[in-house]
Amino acid sequence: MEKEESVLMMVGVQDCVECPQCKFEQAHYEFQTRDFTETLFCPRCGYNMHSVAVVDRKREKIEGKPYFKKTKDGKIILRHYESKGYGSYAIYSPDGFGTIGCVPKDKVEQEKMIAKLKESRRHGYKVNLTLVDENNNVTEVFEDENKSQ
Ligand SMILES: [Zn+2]
Repeated sequence: MEKEESVLMMVGVQDCVECPQCKFEQAHYEFQTRDFTETLFCPRCGYNMHSVAVVDRKREKIEGKPYFKKTKDGKIILRHYESKGYGSYAIYSPDGFGTIGCVPKDKVEQEKMIAKLKESRRHGYKVNLTLVDENNNVTEVFEDENKSQ
């Protein structure tokens, strides 16, 4: 029990890892020791994965605090969610603020998004946009801002 307490007090772990989809070496990985969630996001192709600890709701009510389901040998059970990347975008406003996000799977939604990004460029925003085709090849559509900076 004491060992578990000390684990919970640790802060989240952040790291750069290789993207399992496009092999980009600077995918963002984060592990939250507080609730055992794990996330991986690739800013190049938009791939993302997260896993969450399975909560035992009944037990949680009885104990009055978060209670994670465990295997017989005491390991916390994690459920993994994975989304294929269809591309990603980053928009930088003229005063330097950036927003990043994923390209939607739906082709019609993609077109709408690209139209919006083009509009932003006309208003002086810098835009990076990549699209992923069905063979998982990544194409740079816009690259206004150098990502290595
Ligand atoms: Zn990737």
